[in-house]
Amino acid sequence: MPKSQTHVNEIAEIALARNPGEPEFLQAVYEVLESVAPVLDEHPEFLDARLLERLIEPERQIMFRVPWVDDANTVRVNRGFRVQFNSALGPYKGGLRFHSSVNLSIVKFLGFEQIFKNSLTGQAIGGGKGGSDFDPHGRSDGEVMRFCQSFMTELFRHLGEHTDVPAGDIGVGGREIGYLFGQYRRLTNRHESGVLTGKGTGWGGAEVRNEATGYGAVFFAERMLARTGSSVAGRTAIVSGSGNVATFVIEKLRQLGATAITVSDSSGYVVDEAGIDLELLRQIKEVERGRVSEYAERRPGARFVAKGNVWEVPADLAFPCATQNELLLADAQRLIANGVSLVAEGANMPVVPDAVHLFQEAGVLFAPGKAANAGGVAASSLEMSQNAARQSWTFGDSEERLRAIMCHVHDSAYEASERYGKPGDYVLGANSAGFVGVAEAMLAQGVV
Ligand code: NDP
Repeated sequence: MPKSQTHVNEIAEIALARNPGEPEFLQAVYEVLESVAPVLDEHPEFLDARLLERLIEPERQIMFRVPWVDDANTVRVNRGFRVQFNSALGPYKGGLRFHSSVNLSIVKFLGFEQIFKNSLTGQAIGGGKGGSDFDPHGRSDGEVMRFCQSFMTELFRHLGEHTDVPAGDIGVGGREIGYLFGQYRRLTNRHESGVLTGKGTGWGGAEVRNEATGYGAVFFAERMLARTGSSVAGRTAIVSGSGNVATFVIEKLRQLGATAITVSDSSGYVVDEAGIDLELLRQIKEVERGRVSEYAERRPGARFVAKGNVWEVPADLAFPCATQNELLLADAQRLIANGVSLVAEGANMPVVPDAVHLFQEAGVLFAPGKAANAGGVAASSLEMSQNAARQSWTFGDSEERLRAIMCHVHDSAYEASERYGKPGDYVLGANSAGFVGVAEAMLAQGVV
């Protein structure tokens, strides 16, 4: 067995021994390890410096109590997390997730993926992630505000525009970023705009940050298709989720002449063959904070499938945009049987590894999240630049920069897939290109 493969196997064993009971984190680590042996063959200095062993160990992990009082005057206690994974390329950067499923394994998988994603963007940002097992569903604005204030009362001491810069993720949108920023400003007595991204455009937020993950995923898919002489125009798409990423995937698809016909949430999915009406969806989800079933009740021709599986709907393109491990092997088999030609991950790790392999074997174009959804963090980095320069760029200018970054991410991943012997394997390409970027920085900075 080549020395590189023996080393990779050893690192996999170390990861397993050190992180028992963390399946999502181990899944993310194994996926990267599967890709990097050819990089180690080319760069034996990475192996000698034991960079992989250092990479899988977070630089710092913070866990803390978040006590708050609900509207009924009951004391509630949640757990807060921030994993500062790697700062070789820049300040830790990655979102905060508020969802009942959040635990250390999930935060570590997200933080680990973020290192490679951020490296791929070519922006100077390290990797981190955080969140809480707090569930904002059904909570009043007052409850969400008090929770955010308590969360920030501990987290603020670990943040800073040159240290660690969180953004949103599942359950953390503009409302939550506002409350978090307000409490940071109050505690520090500093209007430090660059400490959080995803702010409102009137107080330091950047144009296109809100749209960036979804738009970026479609730009990435369009570039993949263009390489094979095709495009999204005229195609139908199935999209899972109905939050930030899903809605802006649907919007950009529509602008480029494609039709998204589904959305979902944890209660089921909606099919609307005429194309999802985004105004109605936003009214229900963002203004009324309702469920997707209400969309089908108000939209003639649309139907809601309770507890149904969105992947059973036939379409040309699929964009999983809800959460990790939401598309299983059986779903991949069904999608292939239904003739899907491209799957692009808007969410982080939504497709299980067996399903990824099946798509690749079947010749379906597959875009991994750490490349396809990098637009969000890339636009966050643009927000940090504007904050530092006290500038604000126009929507058109910002969108053009986002498109250029997504082309760069695509081309870097594709070129790496060629270099390491599997042209068009974007998983291999994204992992290896992302790894080389961070590994070179770590090597240059010594054993730290
Ligand atoms: P939102 O909170 O805006 O939306 C999440 C959507 O996914 C909701 O419709 C939610 O439904 C659904 N969902 C969440 N968990 C589940 C579940 N267990 N089963 C079924 N549906 C579920 O989050 P985002 O759109 O911001 O994030 C979606 C994904 O994209 C995540 O994987 C995130 O990490 C990733 N991502 C987000 C970025 C961003 O900029 N926002 C950047 C890069 C990646 P329900 O309300 O029922 O829970």
